[in-house]
Amino acid sequence: MTLLTFRFAPSPNGELHLGHAYSALLNQRMAARAGGRLLLRIEDIDITRCTPEFEAGIFHDLKWLGLDWQEPVRRQSEHFAEYKAVLDRLIAEELVYPAFMSRGEIRAFIAETGKRGRDWPRDPDGVPLYPPLDKALPMKERKRRIAENAPFAWRLDVEAAMARMPGALSWIEFTDETMAATHTVEATPQAWGDAIVARRDIPTSYHLAVVVDDALQQVSHVVRGQDLYAATGVQRLLQELLRLPPPRYFHHRLVLGPDGRKLSKSLRDTSLAALRQAGMSPQDIRRLIGL
Ligand code: GLU
Repeated sequence: MTLLTFRFAPSPNGELHLGHAYSALLNQRMAARAGGRLLLRIEDIDITRCTPEFEAGIFHDLKWLGLDWQEPVRRQSEHFAEYKAVLDRLIAEELVYPAFMSRGEIRAFIAETGKRGRDWPRDPDGVPLYPPLDKALPMKERKRRIAENAPFAWRLDVEAAMARMPGALSWIEFTDETMAATHTVEATPQAWGDAIVARRDIPTSYHLAVVVDDALQQVSHVVRGQDLYAATGVQRLLQELLRLPPPRYFHHRLVLGPDGRKLSKSLRDTSLAALRQAGMSPQDIRRLIGL
């Protein structure tokens, strides 16, 4: 039997909070019960928001919590060349296109449609879908703009991509952390429109880096928060397009704040560092999150 592999994959763009502690410790527990291994991956592709200080904080917090992971730690910012090679495959297969519109231009375009009384569709995070203008640009015009150094991101042509899927696209989800039962979830990547596959400044995006790394690190079980449930659809599509083996998924409950809202990195009150400074022990944290 092959070794089951779990991973915890935080981004060093803020301090870890109770929700991260839950995810990390749940991964550890599930890996231990399955006789598998746990990997740690630092998802720091956003070089403007991720800092060495936040990364150091992550290591400090996780060691303090008692998390054990197998070395080496994979740091995504050290692997841009690998993501670029995968992106180049998608470009060659004409599954992505250069998207030139700035946020302001997208807003203006949508406001125009709104004036004509049409509601513009939004993705599961509430962000308006990317307008179809750039997808329709003639090749000559694309080349002209690129030659003129116009900034652009690469976006997935989700329609073209779905047209290449032979059957229904789905993923296998565990119904709970015991991993005793599974069910199949239909993937609907179209809900995101033409998702970003590579950002303006870097040759990857969250979705692309995650699927490449999960495959490369032979991750068999992705255990992460419910907030990433809808994102799994795009990731499943990318796995199929890139012929990568799909892991199994468990999207766990979120740790909510006292007012019932989702915890966020910008709210320092729930950060693990703040709780530690206030005198809490790792056992107190476990008790707080019910693990
Ligand atoms: N890096 C992501 C985050 O911190 C998690 C990605 C994942 O688990 O797939 O939200």
